[in-house]
Amino acid sequence: MIRLTEIRLDEGAEQLALQVLRSGRLTQGPMVERFEREFAQVAGASHAIAMSSGTTALVAAIQALGLGPGDEVITTPFTFVATLNAVLEAGAAVRLVDIDASDYTIDPEAVAPAVGDRTRAVIPVHLYGFPADMEGLEKVIAGTEISLIEDAAQAHGARISDRPVGSWGMAMFSFYATKNVTTGEGGIVTTSSDVLADKLRLLRNQGMRRRYEYEVPGHNYRMTEIQAAIGIAQLAHLSEWTDRRRRNAARLVEALEEVEGVRLPSLRPERRHVFHQFTVQLDRDTGLDRDTVAAAMEARGIETGVYYPRLSHDYPCYRALDAVRADPTPRAARAAQEVLSLPVHQWLTEADVMAVADTFVDSVRQTRRSLSV
Ligand SMILES: *Cc1c(COP(=O)(O)O)cnc(C)c1O
Repeated sequence: MIRLTEIRLDEGAEQLALQVLRSGRLTQGPMVERFEREFAQVAGASHAIAMSSGTTALVAAIQALGLGPGDEVITTPFTFVATLNAVLEAGAAVRLVDIDASDYTIDPEAVAPAVGDRTRAVIPVHLYGFPADMEGLEKVIAGTEISLIEDAAQAHGARISDRPVGSWGMAMFSFYATKNVTTGEGGIVTTSSDVLADKLRLLRNQGMRRRYEYEVPGHNYRMTEIQAAIGIAQLAHLSEWTDRRRRNAARLVEALEEVEGVRLPSLRPERRHVFHQFTVQLDRDTGLDRDTVAAAMEARGIETGVYYPRLSHDYPCYRALDAVRADPTPRAARAAQEVLSLPVHQWLTEADVMAVADTFVDSVRQTRRSLSV
């Protein structure tokens, strides 16, 4: 079976984790500090504040801006549900707008008409590891007080020209088990604002500046030393692993370019894709069915994934909430029905990548044949 994700931890991680175990210092120690310093560099930001998960990191980022009831945040519904949940957790309202049909990230032209008196932030999601149109979004919010918070959970090391994602306003990265860099569970906020960094550190640790001196009502969003130790070891490989993902993606693109009815990932040279996922879109109007192709691939030993089968708010538990408002999002709705992610990770061999491509082509053909019968 060729898997969609494969997690391998090397000797470097073992040694650093062992160092933590032997030190007896399990939280708020030197590993977290080192991980933060090293990650800030990856994101091109002055500060990185490690958290217990990507979700808590995003909640903290929203809280650090002082957002809460009465405020509205604009984001995309074509994302993992954590983007939506984090805004609701902070007490703010969500306004969901459509995506760009070719790269699946939030469309600045859909953001512009949604901006209103209560809009305080926009959360673009660098979905699958492809940077959202940050320049387009900056133009939309120019001259306003609206903040940008990047959801870079899937985009460690992605860049727009020479500028890393994570360097715009505030950004959240996730280190969940399947992400391009993992600590098992974990997250981080990056920012170049000293004021916001200070707030984030307070919020992470019960609002406490000095022992039992509380400045704001806070929380426990802390990362452990073992998590940070694993993260440091992972980070050392990030650029090599990203190169391998990009090379695998280039091979898939080359092999799949001619398949009719299949849209391949957007490849714009100035927006450096880090291929957390290699996601294709199967056009229903040409007779393709995503779920049939996925089942055919599964039967031949290739695991695929659907990110995401429904829009984030398209569940009964969100329907009655006044805090969730969705514009019509036909492009996102269509993507949810048609996208399929193929294995692209750094541990695939060249033969694995070719097997993924060949099996995909065969499965698409098989679907078309059964259609014409
Ligand atoms: C993984 C992910 C998150 C949440 O991160 P966790 O570490 O799982 O809490 C948020 N947004 C997106 C787009 C993600 O992929």
